[in-house]
Amino acid sequence: MHRISNVVKEKRVVAEPAIALQNRITEKSSKMEKICVAVRLRPPVSEDSSSAVGTFWKVEDNRISLHKIHGTPLSASSHAFDHIFDERSTNANVYELLAKDVIHAALDGFNGTAFAYGQTSSGKTFTMNGSETDAGVIPRAVRDIFGTIETMSDREFLIRVSYMEIYNEEINDLLVVENQKLQIHESLERGVFVSGLKEEIVNNAEQVLDLIKAGEVNRHFGETNMNVRSSRSHTIFRMVIESKGKDSNDCSINDVVRVSVLNLVDLAGSERIAKTGADGVRLKEGKYINKSLMVLGNVINKLSEGSKQRGHIPYRDSKLTRILQPALGGNAKTSIICTIAPEEIHIEETRGTLQFASRAKRITNCVQVNE
Ligand code: ADP
Ligand code: MG
Repeated sequence: MHRISNVVKEKRVVAEPAIALQNRITEKSSKMEKICVAVRLRPPVSEDSSSAVGTFWKVEDNRISLHKIHGTPLSASSHAFDHIFDERSTNANVYELLAKDVIHAALDGFNGTAFAYGQTSSGKTFTMNGSETDAGVIPRAVRDIFGTIETMSDREFLIRVSYMEIYNEEINDLLVVENQKLQIHESLERGVFVSGLKEEIVNNAEQVLDLIKAGEVNRHFGETNMNVRSSRSHTIFRMVIESKGKDSNDCSINDVVRVSVLNLVDLAGSERIAKTGADGVRLKEGKYINKSLMVLGNVINKLSEGSKQRGHIPYRDSKLTRILQPALGGNAKTSIICTIAPEEIHIEETRGTLQFASRAKRITNCVQVNE
């Protein structure tokens, strides 16, 4: 197997838990940076021509508008985003324009998060994981990271991977077989962290992709089928990237250790519970999902109101927002891809997703290198 000489195998480059660095903003120079928000319209899944792209949603450059509803053309309701990917876009396009910056910044010591938000069947998993023929953001990021490290011969890297799922407000470690129900803790020196989460040291892309596959197998489908579960759980794939200059005798900038946390997240379906006609177990799941995504929505709303009006931000109200706190108004570069479906029956959900996206676009993070 191809081995990269500048990925170290076991040795910890730094002693400090990486997670603490997610939250810490010091006096070092930091940059205020808006969250990057894109919308991706998936192609119609049915043959039905009434749902064809262009029938309801019109994409022009970086604007999207609803131009016809129940047969009546609408003039207003146009939204602008950093990028809009139409039905012809590929995962390669999404990676280049939305994710690549975040991934490369993570190699330079900046925390990064990219997540997919949208209703079930709008294309979140297609975007993050991809298909057999079109790899998604996660495999592209993994390959890009190891490919780039190979060219950075003056630094050595330690890469650790973890993979978790939040389901019914319980955190499961997807890199272990047993259902773990991990807890979130907070301490002065570690900040917010998931206690007991396995971190696997990795040294090539194939090893990481194999871990992801194994993680998928470890998802506990239990009482519900795979599709239902995947639409109701959040998965967080995480890489912790540590690096330092190879020649430590040189007391220059090369000597500085950098640590960054990169989260690539596939969120649960954002559809409202009423639509699913849920009862029993599914109602319980729906409530939890509702809670988690509702808190995410609340956090985004609060942050989008601007720093003066912000007041209390309810990060602590859900596991998802606690884990993603640095990505939302904190120390991280963040990209959000909001996936939407073109069909008429999804218009209300799509409007909800665009509203979420518009609010997220107003959020500013405070980004600085972790060294
Ligand atoms: P979600 O994860 O949001 O529930 P999926 O990613 O599973 O949705 O997508 C639902 C279906 O639509 C899948 O069969 C997927 O392959 C297909 N699909 C989604 N987005 C695209 C796209 N951009 N191009 C082609 N097929 C897509
Ligand atoms: Mg999915």
